[in-house]
Amino acid sequence: MSSVYLSLVIPVYNEEKNLAELIERCSKVCREIGKSYEIVLVDDGSKDGSAQMIKQASVKQAEIVGVLLNRNYGQHAAVMAGLAQAHGEVVVTLDADLQNPPEEIPKLMAEIDNGYDVVGSVRQMRQDSAFRRLSSWLVNKAVQKSTGVLMHDYGCMLRAYRRPIVHAMLQCHERSTFIPVLANMFAHRTTEVPVNHAARENDESKYSFLKLINLQFDLLTSMTTFPLRLLSLIGGGMAVLGFILSALLLVLRIIYGAEWAAQGVMTVFSILFLFIGMQLLAMGLLGEYVGRIYNDVRARPRYFVREVVSQRTPAVSEKE
Ligand code: UDP
Ligand code: MG
Repeated sequence: MSSVYLSLVIPVYNEEKNLAELIERCSKVCREIGKSYEIVLVDDGSKDGSAQMIKQASVKQAEIVGVLLNRNYGQHAAVMAGLAQAHGEVVVTLDADLQNPPEEIPKLMAEIDNGYDVVGSVRQMRQDSAFRRLSSWLVNKAVQKSTGVLMHDYGCMLRAYRRPIVHAMLQCHERSTFIPVLANMFAHRTTEVPVNHAARENDESKYSFLKLINLQFDLLTSMTTFPLRLLSLIGGGMAVLGFILSALLLVLRIIYGAEWAAQGVMTVFSILFLFIGMQLLAMGLLGEYVGRIYNDVRARPRYFVREVVSQRTPAVSEKE
């Protein structure tokens, strides 16, 4: 049943102001590409009229498939839900807020035609706040360092994947997913193209500060256990330093006598506090992993599809 060539997968969370334009622009671009297409809109438990609008659109337009989740699961879970419903040979993900112009899709398709499995994109002239840019920069550097895969912009969701990659990603059952990193794990040939980035015109970002932090940790823990290794590295280094320091203190104590040592009490305390601080930090990091292990062990489904609205017969039967 893979008569569809191109699937767009778009997570939607409270985007009623953008939906109409989004659907129109995406449809136009897809028509121009000239291959069979579908647009999978995943409503991530929106509280506004988005779900209703998606339903209506899917009734009106045969190419639109609406996937309505029963509550808010987060952008990446929503995209996974969409991937599970997409049939295309090539799947393109993008944001619903029109910050990734749909008009850039043909550029990605051209690279797919060149034989790449995963096509990422780099946002030119990024229209986001300085804080968002800084956090992205940090994350990108960390990912590049630890995966060795040189992609410049992991935060940009305007990306194209071939069917086998999508298939592989759907086999991954961990709960904290960061899709671009996951995809790169399975990709044979990857490339990137520069794309425009528009400012968010209607509404504001759907990511609160806390959600953003959580996302960064998803990314960090989804790709590597490097922080854990770093932990033991730092721990080892500190142990050595602590040893040298105490040896030094002991020697000085012998040379200068007890009076000197009493005056050094505060120094010792300050060092102690430093160590305690570092330990707590390390424990926090451990906690991040443990928390995720806990989540995975519970093995709850990543999402439940409430309803799939489309004019075609459902091909993927989602068992509850
Ligand atoms: N989104 C979602 N669930 C969420 C948060 C966001 O599906 O819990 C969607 C949102 O509708 C948009 C995309 O994810 O299509 C990116 O969100 P946003 O534009 O707010 O993020 P930013 O541009 O700030 O990275
Ligand atoms: Mg955005």
